[in-house]
Amino acid sequence: MQHFDLFVIGAGSGGVRAARTAAATGARVAIAEDRYMGGTCVNVGCVPKKLYVYASEYAHQFQDAEGFGWSLGPARHDWSKLVDAKKAEIARLNGIYDGLLSRVDVTVFNARARVTGPTTVEVDGETISADRILIATGGWPRMPDLPGIEHCVSSNEIFDMPEFPQRILVVGAGYVAVEFAGIFNGLGSEVTLSYRGPRILRNFDPEIVDALSAEMEKTGIKIALNDSPRAIVRQDDGSLRVEFADREPQVVDCVLMAAGRVANTTGLGLENAGVETRDDGSIPVDSGYQTNVPSVFALGDVVGGQYQLTPVATSEAMVFVRRQFGDESGASMDYRDIPTAVFSQPNIGTVGLTEQEARDAGHDIQVFKSGFRAMRHTLSGRDERTLMKLIVDAPSQRVIGCQMLGPDAGEIVQGLAVAIKAGATKQHFDDTVGIHPTAAEEFVTMR
Ligand code: NDP
Repeated sequence: MQHFDLFVIGAGSGGVRAARTAAATGARVAIAEDRYMGGTCVNVGCVPKKLYVYASEYAHQFQDAEGFGWSLGPARHDWSKLVDAKKAEIARLNGIYDGLLSRVDVTVFNARARVTGPTTVEVDGETISADRILIATGGWPRMPDLPGIEHCVSSNEIFDMPEFPQRILVVGAGYVAVEFAGIFNGLGSEVTLSYRGPRILRNFDPEIVDALSAEMEKTGIKIALNDSPRAIVRQDDGSLRVEFADREPQVVDCVLMAAGRVANTTGLGLENAGVETRDDGSIPVDSGYQTNVPSVFALGDVVGGQYQLTPVATSEAMVFVRRQFGDESGASMDYRDIPTAVFSQPNIGTVGLTEQEARDAGHDIQVFKSGFRAMRHTLSGRDERTLMKLIVDAPSQRVIGCQMLGPDAGEIVQGLAVAIKAGATKQHFDDTVGIHPTAAEEFVTMR
């Protein structure tokens, strides 16, 4: 029987990072993946999404260019050309992932693995033993139980739709829903975002979210709040008729179900090793990513943590490797002040606490705000507002939160996250000289 020091199930962001860094310490490592190298992020998540965001932003840029003296003919977009270009780029990245693993002699099984015991897995009809098994199988789109749900697509399929949808209904109001509403709006679809609650992006600062909603509506996205599809019916012409509880049916070409993600543990055989899972399938772990079974570990989206983000999964993988294959048994991940961005149009970037979270946590706070029209739009004529907020803990003067809605907010907030992580005070921000003229300089001139 083949034996490894570590057997990783799932070659996504967390799994690949764990496999190759463990192997780099000299450990004998294998990884099994039955779909695609790089997992959700590379294949049907962050990477293709960002490419499609770039594609869609051109529509706005073409319009804006006129104010700067450009005259352009009518712009046309070729969906299949974008899909093909994206496919080529993802294939290149898949190859890079393969290379990263083979360079450190990780044995790769392009097959589905099942746990058969605390230290055994079955893959390709072979039973393999390992001192440690790491479950890094990520998440999977949640498809609510709805009549006609089989006619909907998820973020797994949306990138490769054979036909460009002229009319699209996006269900949900989290990251995926908001980002794809922007993508399809920019590419020329008629977009409706349907959300069951009263405000999109429930976990974000309401003021920032209201400002984003206003911007989305200005670009032509319809936002239907307190709205729930009840059934989806395929019509003879191939279109979809969506029925709602409280409004007239709507006919669209595509329904994107963006109702969150669930842990991808179905059929993994975890019960064979006695690994506990929660009702939603996610796997409880301790701060070293150890499950209730000492030889079985799990990290990334499959553990059902608050942050389903690639950089979180890769950081968790590093902690796991340092603890298990290094000499840092006390290594742990700091989940405070994790920055994140929604690649909406314009972006939201955020780090630390929102105003409400800070108050709920008992902070006595000062809130600094700046709202303005970005310089570019003085000539473009676009009526788009940027909004920035800094949340300061009044007694210590530490900046404990920062939110931005505006172009490149993700890029800007990444830098501010370093300052916040380092414990910067409002005085440090005030003492920092701005870079002029930028939007980012507003963060150091708020008084
Ligand atoms: P989110 O958890 O962000 O949002 C899920 C949305 O679906 C919410 O609006 C939620 O509503 C709604 N919803 C949940 N259940 C149902 C249901 N049964 N019927 C209708 N609506 C429902 O999930 P996403 O799929 O958007 O993204 C998954 C994760 O991937 C995110 O948590 C994020 O961490 C990550 N991601 C990160 C990105 C980035 O960093 N830019 C981009 C894309 C994804 P409610 O709020 O009312 O529960």
